[in-house]
Amino acid sequence: MINLILFGPPGSGKGTQAARLVEKYRLVHISTGDLFRYEMSNDTPLGQQAKAYMAKGELVPDEVTIGMLRNKVEKHPEANGFIFDGFPRTIPQAQALDKLLEEKGTDIHCLMALQVDDDEIVHRIKLRGATSGRPDDNDETIIRNRIAVYKNETAPVYDYYAEQSKSHSINGIGEIDEIFDRLAAIVDSVPA
Ligand code: ADP
Repeated sequence: MINLILFGPPGSGKGTQAARLVEKYRLVHISTGDLFRYEMSNDTPLGQQAKAYMAKGELVPDEVTIGMLRNKVEKHPEANGFIFDGFPRTIPQAQALDKLLEEKGTDIHCLMALQVDDDEIVHRIKLRGATSGRPDDNDETIIRNRIAVYKNETAPVYDYYAEQSKSHSINGIGEIDEIFDRLAAIVDSVPA
């Protein structure tokens, strides 16, 4: 199994690159942001729980997110591996993910962090906001809050996996194909 974590601030290109990595490595893509948006669009109890947090650019509580992630992983017993996008976003989420994978006799292959500066992030998210219909993409204060939450709560996850020698930084600026090549080079260089 190859289990990848695609990491980086909001708007750093995780979704775009995840789609390509899925094709190349035949992995199951799990985006917790997409899962929450799906639940919200169906107005499920889970969607209702997540809504207020997402609207403010805050994190949904760990117990809610971890439970949802676990359910999704367990729906794919046949998977070759997973690409986690937008998860883990906190240290408890990372610990829960490691435990879940260990139960399945596997682990994280590598974490790849896309590096993009704040002004570029705000610019990209505002562009995306014009077509994404996401309320959290259309308000600069909320975008800046998401970046602050990333720095305070999520960035430590990079160090957590660095302690396991699994974290890699990638320049997230450039052509989509170029960035993809940088990511694939890392996946291919890490022994299984
Ligand atoms: P982006 O990375 O562009 O901010 P996402 O689609 O990954 O967008 O996430 C959107 C929102 O969904 C986050 O701001 C947060 O409220 C919620 N969310 C997504 N993933 C998680 C997670 N792992 N833990 C807590 N909240 C999450």
